[in-house]
Amino acid sequence: QGAIRFDDVHFAYDPERAILKGISFEVPPGKTVAIVGPSGAGKSTISRLLFRFYDIQSGSITIDGQDVRDVTQKSLRAAIGMVPQDTVLFNDTIAYNVRYGRVDASEEEIRKAAELAQIGPFIESLPDGYRTMVGERGLKLSGGEKQRVAIARTILKAPPILILDEATSALDTHTEQEIQAALDMVSRGRTTLVIAHRLSTVISADEIIVLKDGRIAERGTHRALLDSG
Ligand code: ADP
Ligand code: ADP
Repeated sequence: QGAIRFDDVHFAYDPERAILKGISFEVPPGKTVAIVGPSGAGKSTISRLLFRFYDIQSGSITIDGQDVRDVTQKSLRAAIGMVPQDTVLFNDTIAYNVRYGRVDASEEEIRKAAELAQIGPFIESLPDGYRTMVGERGLKLSGGEKQRVAIARTILKAPPILILDEATSALDTHTEQEIQAALDMVSRGRTTLVIAHRLSTVISADEIIVLKDGRIAERGTHRALLDSG
């Protein structure tokens, strides 16, 4: 479930400047494909197109064989979970933030997801910037902790498709390793698109696609790309 296919996709935000110049790739159900490339290469654009935030100029994008143009944005959002670069939290408890995206979740399910993402201890806390009428202040969360809230949300939502956008970029090495383990757990068995700057963070992807100037410059496993220099 959740096969993604880009077929000769051309896209430009501005007709004068092509961003994607004929991109084709597939993420088979349950597999992980990483898109790697320098800043500005068009990596995030690929995830925006999957959500259909923009229409492509030509080619096609399908999920399980269905053109995304024929799918509502609402169902795309239900099918795709995203752990973004920068998680913005709602002004409510961490538990509320975790539940967002699956309002029917039970207390027990929320607690479990929070535990797996290692945010169990502050589930009832309020995020930074929060201020109640009596002047109570929120808890200042680090970038890594906010990311763990996003991970807990994704664990709870359990979508067939997962997009990890530079998911461990904001973290120190130790936290990065812990988060990586949590992400590996969430992405197991799900169709996953990882967006990353560096090859070294996507060693275990089934395929790595190197994007350069709107085209696929190289593709293969981590090992194959290293061998080819
Ligand atoms: P990456 O994720 O690889 O850093 P992006 O997909 O964010 O790259 O952006 C690719 C190019 O598209 C960049 O040159 C960026 O400036 C441009 N771009 C991104 N978003 C927009 C937008 N909304 N309107 C116009 N240009 C954009
Ligand atoms: P037609 O339906 O006339 O044969 P196309 O199918 O090529 O033409 O595309 C019609 C319009 O829909 C294009 O202008 C393109 O911007 C947009 N489009 C095509 N494929 C997609 C897609 N997968 N997602 C979003 N927009 C698309």
